[in-house]
Amino acid sequence: MSVAKPLTSGFIMKTFDCKMCGECCYGEGGINVNEEEVERIARFLDISPEAFISGYCRELNGRLTIRTGPDYFCIFFDQEKACLIHPVKPAICSQWPYYPANLTDKDTWEMAKQACPGINPESSFKEFREEGGQNLKSSTKDQTNG
Ligand code: SF4
Ligand code: SF4
Repeated sequence: MSVAKPLTSGFIMKTFDCKMCGECCYGEGGINVNEEEVERIARFLDISPEAFISGYCRELNGRLTIRTGPDYFCIFFDQEKACLIHPVKPAICSQWPYYPANLTDKDTWEMAKQACPGINPESSFKEFREEGGQNLKSSTKDQTNG
């Protein structure tokens, strides 16, 4: 994911800087999309929500998820350009790494650091939590402002 760079308005993160490695865009079934996200991404791609669902999604365990390509990367991951739907990517991508579990549990944050080279290993858990809170406020404001 970022590829998963948060949707913020000029807010510089100290605890996270996506390296665009695509590690979090690999694997099947993890990228859920809700109705609002389907409409938003379809609009961005200039296709109908139905065409987006049939062309780019699949249902997995009762949830709609973005498909992977033959290489098992998300179908929207491009090795050179990273996320091809970056401005409208689903919340599960744009909120990483500031997920509630990473913000509330230090061990989970430690594990997230192992998985994601974008999480600054020099920053403290306290700093990560503080920035996570600010990022959440900022992305909520972005969404409210459309
Ligand atoms: S939509 Fe796909 S390519 Fe974009 S950040 Fe999410 S998983 Fe990665
Ligand atoms: S694993 Fe981390 S650094 Fe790599 S693309 Fe995903 S968010 Fe960015």
